[in-house]
Amino acid sequence: MVLCVLHRGPNLRLFCLSFFFFFAVNLRSGAEQKVVFITARVHPGETPSSFVCQGIIDFLVSQHPIAKVLRDHLVFKIAPMLNPDGVYLGNYRCSLMGFDLNRHWVDPSPWAHPTLHGVKQLIVQMYNNPKISLEFYIDIHAHSTMMNGFMYGNIFEEEERFQRQAIFPKLLCQNAEDFSFSSTSFNRDAVKAGTGRRFLGGLLDHTSYCYTLEVSFYSYMLGGTTSTVPYTEEACILYKSIHPSECFECT
Ligand SMILES: [Zn+2]
Repeated sequence: MVLCVLHRGPNLRLFCLSFFFFFAVNLRSGAEQKVVFITARVHPGETPSSFVCQGIIDFLVSQHPIAKVLRDHLVFKIAPMLNPDGVYLGNYRCSLMGFDLNRHWVDPSPWAHPTLHGVKQLIVQMYNNPKISLEFYIDIHAHSTMMNGFMYGNIFEEEERFQRQAIFPKLLCQNAEDFSFSSTSFNRDAVKAGTGRRFLGGLLDHTSYCYTLEVSFYSYMLGGTTSTVPYTEEACILYKSIHPSECFECT
């Protein structure tokens, strides 16, 4: 499905074409749709974001028994490249027009931030649909100085909601050897107010969980050791390892 198309003149017609996938194979008709919404590559220089997103898609369409269970119970909506014109131009952080799209979630313009506008409209429509429950929003990035995979989450006044939000990154830490819960942090910095994770965390109700998933550009440290493992294209398929392994940070 094409999310939006924007023409930038006669020679640049293909800019801003953003594809959108969704997977739901075995849901009962009439059942409430529980949706996991994933976005990636809003920052064009963060190529590991695309490898991780590709790994998630490959797993979800596989015949792995856990993938089948996920498809039986959840709808996955994935926008794998939120900044296609920036990627095409080789930009590091901005779109064609020079915007950091991950600072414009509050009021995206259909003209200046078309992919963001399209995704936000879709999410708001789902949120207002009583037959849909938006369970997770995960925005995939890559980090240029930190190691491992980790998350940013939101801070809420309600202690119970805040604690619930920490469960998912703890589970990731237990099940993926390169994911670090100790590097995961929760904040509400003003400078991050325009990010997807912050904006949707404020818009959606307490049943939804919103995260930024970061993966290092470089390598990860194995828990309990000082040895580092470089991320290769294959290793960047971060959550392929779904068999629980000992988690040194959580124990
Ligand atoms: Zn980023």
